[in-house]
Amino acid sequence: MKSLSTLLVASVFSIGCIAQTVKLPKNALGRLELNVAALANDFMEGRGTGTAGEQKAAEYIVRDFSKYKLEPKGDSSWYQRFTFVPHGAAQIHHKGDTASLGMALVKEITGRNVIGFIDNKAATTLVIGAHYDHLGMGDENSLWTGPKAIHNGADDNASGVSVMLELAHWLSKRPKETRGHNYLFIGFSGEEKGLLGSNHFTKNPTIPLQNIAYMINMDMVGRLNKERSLAINGVGTSPSWMPVINGISVDSLVIVTSESGMGASDHTSFYLSDIPAVHFFTGQHEDYHKPSDDFEGKINVKGMASVTNYIQHVIVAMDDEVKPAFTKTKDASPSASDFKVTLGVMPDYLYSGKGLRIDGCKDGKPGAKAGLMKGDTIMKLGDFDIEDIYGYMEALGKFEKGQSTTMMVEREGKQIELKVTWE
Ligand SMILES: [Zn+2]
Repeated sequence: MKSLSTLLVASVFSIGCIAQTVKLPKNALGRLELNVAALANDFMEGRGTGTAGEQKAAEYIVRDFSKYKLEPKGDSSWYQRFTFVPHGAAQIHHKGDTASLGMALVKEITGRNVIGFIDNKAATTLVIGAHYDHLGMGDENSLWTGPKAIHNGADDNASGVSVMLELAHWLSKRPKETRGHNYLFIGFSGEEKGLLGSNHFTKNPTIPLQNIAYMINMDMVGRLNKERSLAINGVGTSPSWMPVINGISVDSLVIVTSESGMGASDHTSFYLSDIPAVHFFTGQHEDYHKPSDDFEGKINVKGMASVTNYIQHVIVAMDDEVKPAFTKTKDASPSASDFKVTLGVMPDYLYSGKGLRIDGCKDGKPGAKAGLMKGDTIMKLGDFDIEDIYGYMEALGKFEKGQSTTMMVEREGKQIELKVTWE
């Protein structure tokens, strides 16, 4: 992606204006590890929205919120409940001859956001959020084709919750006079079902929305790679972001930014409410939405500490921004459902070179059948040169089911040609 590589270069060569004086709280590493491991333990049963496992995870978060003396800021407790009708059930309802019959068969599910507040008597509030729900034993969003299994979601998103808890710890101990905003912490549920918890919060906020200065979302921050690439999505949502980001250098993190406020996580709900919002993300991987997204041997706890420290610097740099300006972003990415065909691949969102590098293929989909592999970079689809993910989306729109076409792919420095049949 052209624009991304320019930004990447800019941030790599910038000299940090903020000295690394913002330190992690003592023993942060131990707590980050303990919390991500606990939330990703089988005991939490994959934290499916509305399940007993979700309740256990919610209680775990409440325990830490209480310890750090946060104030409950849900609907009259720590919790903000919301209900929804599961996806499959909703379809029965719509297709049924009698709506009431459909409804009678459908059991509503109740999910809960967990919300804690630190009131610093400031004019505006910083929202720090991370979703704590995951796929339970596997649901319609699972990419696992094997027998039912607990989806622990260590990276997605026990990692983000663990970083949120550490930030709550740090902010609760920060000298009062240095605090620029009030702090609202939200563990969202229902994210995997379609940003349900964050959507519910922005429609039923427990503090006035107009008093929110900005929002920070952490979703999948547990797999910092060797290149140390940390993605920050949504930097176009306020003119304040890029100067702040260019002024920070922490632990040799390589920052890759993207503009759009529309993403596949909870910051989107805030962006859609005209609130500057960014999403921190350490990248896609093969275990995404599979039971193998585990803690053991897979989570980079030191990397999580670097991400936490980076966000601490952002919060300090934003202290004087009482109400940063909001800007709408250009949202070039059409949704997958706009296409008649799909390859069934996971793009590598941290890749900034030419072409579309892929991080994995969904079994049984045209990409996998054509022989695409993780790490391949798609350079050409039929007659269309693929510059970046947007070029790829545009090219996809030109094909119909039943057609076949060739695809030029770069694999380990060599160009190979694959034949794909759209279905
Ligand atoms: Zn997630």
